[in-house]
Amino acid sequence: MPWDPVLLRQPLLRWWQEHGRHTIPWKLRPNGSLPAADEPLDPYPIWIAEVMLQQTQLQVVLPYWQRWMAAFPTLECLAQAEEHDVLLLWQGLGYYSRARRLLAAARQLQLQIEGQVPRPRRSADLATWPQALESWLALPGIGRSTAGSILSSAFNRPFAILDGNVKRVLARLIACERPPARELKRFWALSEALLDPERPRDFNQALMDLGASVCTPRNPRCEQCPWQPHCAAYAAGTPDAYPVTDTPRELPFQVIGVGVVLNSAGQVLVDQRLNEGLLGGLWEFPGGKQEPGEAIEATIRRELKEELAIEVEVGEELISLEHAYSHKKLRFVVHLCRWLAGEPQPLASQQVRWVEPAALDAFPFPAANTRIIAALQQRLQAEDSAAAA
Ligand code: SF4
Repeated sequence: MPWDPVLLRQPLLRWWQEHGRHTIPWKLRPNGSLPAADEPLDPYPIWIAEVMLQQTQLQVVLPYWQRWMAAFPTLECLAQAEEHDVLLLWQGLGYYSRARRLLAAARQLQLQIEGQVPRPRRSADLATWPQALESWLALPGIGRSTAGSILSSAFNRPFAILDGNVKRVLARLIACERPPARELKRFWALSEALLDPERPRDFNQALMDLGASVCTPRNPRCEQCPWQPHCAAYAAGTPDAYPVTDTPRELPFQVIGVGVVLNSAGQVLVDQRLNEGLLGGLWEFPGGKQEPGEAIEATIRRELKEELAIEVEVGEELISLEHAYSHKKLRFVVHLCRWLAGEPQPLASQQVRWVEPAALDAFPFPAANTRIIAALQQRLQAEDSAAAA
């Protein structure tokens, strides 16, 4: 690089002092005031926020984080929580394995803290929390950037970060001609070289704030940027061309037949997915992939027999919707079904339940299923009104 990374610290920190985000609640003392430079902060709220922020923007995360802190205000509370309640609070944030790993990590950490000799009076004592990078990396769901962010934010420890915002800023700063994911070693070295060892908490926050508010994905505001004199992408006149990305591959597309099965008591059948994959542990309406040449009604009948050992009569379509995940696109074709025979068995799930339609909100569902619930409740209300008329 044509410049000394040390020279970039002061301009960024000066910019941050004036323009940075200084009201992020987990970066403040409990009374809402700013901490002193070396004053430790409680790592628990920071950790929760950092995991939520892994795939999601700050403004979206804020209400989730507030609800979470109200329900599970301490590590002890989270460690004792039921997975069902944790997933329910996570509902809508996506990437649900993050919530399950958070719970597993909380239980692991709680055991570690309780096992300390001498035993701490309260595990909320900040001194009982691990302060080594390796200790955090050993917990489920915590990578190097998350660990660095927690330790620099909570204890002002000099660990670098490399989240999506930071990768974008650094890619532009050096006009990197390869995607950041292919240059991780180089990017980590750069983030470490830039980090201010005297003010790692402020520096990392400043870097994240620069990416979030100035060096934005589209139309970066280079005229307001403290690093403009050093920025290779700006000098080349093409900041938008960075970070370079690999050509996106075509996402595979699948049609999923889904059955909303009602019994004679008006209850609806839901099952809980196995604890694996993106949506593990969440509840859903049963169904599965349409085979080539198969009518969707036949798909639903077959899937419900294979996965739940039940016979159903497939009725009319309730809703059809599309949903894109990072690795595939799905179209859900949802039909109302009438249960005919067979005690439902969880042959491909953790458990199956008959539930009153009004009680579906108490179960954590993936985003696509919440639209199915809304369609079902609307449909049942319409039927009730028609019957009452
Ligand atoms: Fe990003 Fe522009 Fe600043 Fe370069 S000058 S770091 S492209 S905002």
